[in-house]
Amino acid sequence: MAKFEGYKDIYVFVEQKNGTVAEVGYELISEARKLVASIPEMGYQVVGALLGSNITDKAQDVIAHGADKVIVVDDELLKDYSTQFYTDALTQIIKEFKPDSFLTGATVLGRDLAPRVAARINAGLTADATKIEIDTEKAKDGEALLLVTRPTFGGNLFGTIVCPDTRPQMATIRPKVFDMAPVDASRTGEVVSFAPKWETTEPEVTIDKVVEKIVEGVDITKANILVGAGRGAEGCLDLVEACAKELDGVVCATRAVVEDGYMDKALQVGQTGKTVRPSLYIACGISGAVQHVAGMEKSDMIIAINRDPQAEIFTIANMGFVGDVNEVLPLLVEEIKKA
Ligand code: FAD
Repeated sequence: MAKFEGYKDIYVFVEQKNGTVAEVGYELISEARKLVASIPEMGYQVVGALLGSNITDKAQDVIAHGADKVIVVDDELLKDYSTQFYTDALTQIIKEFKPDSFLTGATVLGRDLAPRVAARINAGLTADATKIEIDTEKAKDGEALLLVTRPTFGGNLFGTIVCPDTRPQMATIRPKVFDMAPVDASRTGEVVSFAPKWETTEPEVTIDKVVEKIVEGVDITKANILVGAGRGAEGCLDLVEACAKELDGVVCATRAVVEDGYMDKALQVGQTGKTVRPSLYIACGISGAVQHVAGMEKSDMIIAINRDPQAEIFTIANMGFVGDVNEVLPLLVEEIKKA
């Protein structure tokens, strides 16, 4: 008898708000597709878990993004996110369908939900991961052991964590670390409606009022071109902003610049900021600390300007200029505009 009889497939929690699916759900489905492809002998499927109210019609989108099957819980109680009802519903899905692995985005919601579900079912959870793989050797013996990597010790080390003794193997994964595969509207899959048995429909917490956050400026995670300001550019932030504007780009910053009070925390890139993947990231006066690099290393093209030729940022840059930001940046922008 297999070690974990009945457990199979990779499940992804498809986070949505008012019917709009968070991109991280689709990023995880795309990655889960690669994982199941790496262990064909297991015959695993990618399954989405879609919870909410009036969301059944979104199931086909989830399939178009790569799911083979979608478990839908469409219930008025799940209209707004509630730790209580979402935990109850997801726990019952897991008990009923027995996923071998269960992935959730490390969003505010996911960081609340996944640990509670894991505690409820006594499963292991690796939080805030940046990489997932499957032990293909073990798969030959019928076990799909998930290898989940996350930064630790302030981002100075990476640890790979396994949950060999419990199922499902749960993980929360940061948004933007995986690519979203192209949508294929012709994909077909199974949609399964699941009705949880609520112990109570009395909410422990009620929502009196929802106050939408006023977001000023642009979202750096959506920008195509980012000009990153580090401490070495603090003396010329006007220039950095002007250059970003000329390139139709957006300014972002290191934590040092944010902590020095020059930029808003919403613009911080890195381990404790946002993860970005623009097509071009120009790093201005940024040393290249691991905690910053963790948030931007997946950019398609990285150009670094630093007056220290030994700066770490040059080790990950596609192109580097040793010099003063004040002098190099305007010249670089001119060249980029010509190209
Ligand atoms: P510095 O390291 O001071 O580098 C400034 C660089 O500018 C130097 O390389 C210098 O040579 C160069 N320079 C100076 N003047 C010029 C000039 N005129 N022209 C060109 N180059 C010049 N950091 C983040 O960014 N994001 C995070 O999310 C984050 N999270 C963290 C979490 C933890 C737990 C910890 C411990 C740290 C975290 N940090 C984070 C901080 C990180 O370790 C670094 O301290 C920070 O990234 C350094 O920012 P910096 O490169 O702007 O500054």
